[in-house]
Amino acid sequence: MSADNKFASTSLEEIDQIHASLRQGFKSGKLKSIAYRKVQILQLGYLLQDNVRRFKDAFAVDLGRPALESAFLELDSTIGDCKVAYDRVEKWAKTEKAPFNLNFFAFGPVVRNEPKGVVPNISPFNYPVWTAIGPIIGAIAAGNCVVLKPSELSANVSGLIAELVPKYMDPDAMRVVMGGIAETTKLLELPWDHILYTGGGRVARIISAAAAKTLSPITLELGGKSPVVIDPKCDLTTAARRILWGKAVNAGQTCIAPDYVLVPRDFEEKFVDALKAAHAEFYPKGALNSSDISTIISAGHFSRIKGLLDKTEGEIVFGGETDESRKFIAPTVVKGVKETDSLMSEELFGPILPVMPVENVDAAIEYINKKDHPLSLYVFSQDAAFKSKVFDNTQSGSAIANDVIIHGGADGLPFGGTGPSGSGYHHGKYSFDEFTHLRASLDSPSWIDKILGSRYPPYTSKKENF
Ligand code: NAD
Repeated sequence: MSADNKFASTSLEEIDQIHASLRQGFKSGKLKSIAYRKVQILQLGYLLQDNVRRFKDAFAVDLGRPALESAFLELDSTIGDCKVAYDRVEKWAKTEKAPFNLNFFAFGPVVRNEPKGVVPNISPFNYPVWTAIGPIIGAIAAGNCVVLKPSELSANVSGLIAELVPKYMDPDAMRVVMGGIAETTKLLELPWDHILYTGGGRVARIISAAAAKTLSPITLELGGKSPVVIDPKCDLTTAARRILWGKAVNAGQTCIAPDYVLVPRDFEEKFVDALKAAHAEFYPKGALNSSDISTIISAGHFSRIKGLLDKTEGEIVFGGETDESRKFIAPTVVKGVKETDSLMSEELFGPILPVMPVENVDAAIEYINKKDHPLSLYVFSQDAAFKSKVFDNTQSGSAIANDVIIHGGADGLPFGGTGPSGSGYHHGKYSFDEFTHLRASLDSPSWIDKILGSRYPPYTSKKENF
């Protein structure tokens, strides 16, 4: 990468060199030391903490994001994740004794938690710190060397990461490859010990096919349409505020944003009125005049989302305003949406909330089960039986009652999809595990042959009857 242009793509030759030098870094054995890993985790935390202002500014340029959103959505939680890993890495990395078994205890069977090796993290634009840095805290804690390939769309945040990584991190442990399709394609031609990809399903298929050629194991953190199921017996005001917030924050460009709402037909008007009230509370001067709304990342995504909205046959309740010059789309609620509507055709990844009336909860469950397993499934209800019914009869990456999005930062919970919404997990110990090889180990004493000597030929009938 040339020093005078921090946004320039990494040359293809340099990608080969980065791969080779990280392999060398891994071979050096320095990542075996937990103390060394802790220093690198601490450095990652400082990389973010020392530069919070610059990151907030970069988010504002790339995503028009209010500073508070950037702090709340990814900076604070990622710094917090560094602290958690720093405090717990000794415990995580400890060799574990196998459960007691009379036949095997004399062998001293243990599981050695060992790093997989050298791993790339190919990440998307929408949460460019949480997805680029978040999961690799666990990778470093597990003793891996990492190459980050942040998104070319979030150019300012990615550029800042590329500038800061060499200043804070040991180049033997972490490097950055900048670029888009060509650079990622080159990266994927090389053999890796594990690949983490976060992004959309279409590209995930390309990444998986490339990984298959080198037999590199892979974790896929994908997206999809995360539904919300409304029970009339919910705390309606709170539900409306949380759902609207979850849809509007980061302009709907959140993998676990509530994508659409399934509401009983005879409750739709009440629900929509509550959304209207929440909207008036959030944006008292109107959405167009609010400085609290992020914008869409690119002209391409702007026209994709606008195109879906233009084609809807539902009724716009509020919103619908767009400003192409600043890639702005107002938070929009569309009611009376049918299964065949444009807004139900793909992950929206924008601030549009379709509300689809259904007859009852059984119809909602049936609809969800006809579709790909979503990354998140949300239920708003004060009735335990209603919540259980929805959760017990569906599949999704996560099952959340009475809130949206915040589980992504919840300590102790895995983050991951199932089926088309992804495979594998990250966050906290789950990231550590994802990048850890469980190396089975035992040490067989010679005296055991007094008992197990019958395994050796010749297989006499005396041995068989032993
Ligand atoms: P994307 O798939 O377009 O890009 C992600 C990464 O893939 C980028 O680094 C990009 O450079 C690279 N890439 C793009 N096209 C490629 C190609 N043809 N070959 C090789 N590499 C390529 O994703 P996006 O639009 O940046 O992100 C949006 C998607 O990510 C949504 O579907 C969202 O739900 C999902 N997402 C999931 C999570 C999660 O944790 N599960 C988090 C954030 C976003």
